[in-house]
Amino acid sequence: LLICSHGHTDHIAGIASHAAKRSLYNMRPASYYIPAHLEKPLDLIAETFSQLNESQEGRGRINTCVVTPTSEPIQLPNGYKVKVFPTQHRVASQGYIVYRSEKLRKPEYANLKNEEMRELIQSGIDFSYLKETPLLAYTGDTLPEIYDEPFTPDLLRVRLLITEATYIDDNPSAIPKAREWGHTHLQEIIDRKEKFRDLERILLVHFSDKYSARYIRQRTAEMLPNNLKQKVILGITSLNRP
Ligand SMILES: [Zn+2]
Ligand SMILES: [Zn+2]
Repeated sequence: LLICSHGHTDHIAGIASHAAKRSLYNMRPASYYIPAHLEKPLDLIAETFSQLNESQEGRGRINTCVVTPTSEPIQLPNGYKVKVFPTQHRVASQGYIVYRSEKLRKPEYANLKNEEMRELIQSGIDFSYLKETPLLAYTGDTLPEIYDEPFTPDLLRVRLLITEATYIDDNPSAIPKAREWGHTHLQEIIDRKEKFRDLERILLVHFSDKYSARYIRQRTAEMLPNNLKQKVILGITSLNRP
């Protein structure tokens, strides 16, 4: 399963090579969950790649499934599911929340003995309920306003929030630039630190390529207040980053 937040190249360009690699290693085609407006462009990409490869074999390997904030949740094995929420970027975009659902016994039946349980089961009473725990949210690229009036309060209750801090520098134009491009500046996360109090961890990703890994470490260490510093993990994985 792959989830895709929006159509910008840095988020979508890997799909064709991902699908081709899976095929090369005889793996099942993946399901790519995408916003509705990406369906046609991705069909075109699949078609174009099959022309480039002079083979129709890979044509069906980009297996897209459209999901929107009003869709039914994506059902995963072992009681996991994924729901979609809208985000605010320069182009149409959406984020995803992964939930774990567990069947638990209703508190009023917590102390029943086995015999009483058997009687209840026989009389058809359902003493269980479904508990959904929001585990992980991925926002993709977004303005920070999604935290001010969240589409669902679960966005700020997950264990791990994966979000962006594209800009982190103190140039006076950095925040206006972040806003113009539909991104978040680290300062805007810090300004909202109270909103993040229930999150266990925040993985910050998508730092601008102009920052070195060293600068990102230094700058976040200087800027982040203690309560955020304890939660923040820096996603600095780009091999090209100096
Ligand atoms: Zn983008
Ligand atoms: Zn991006």
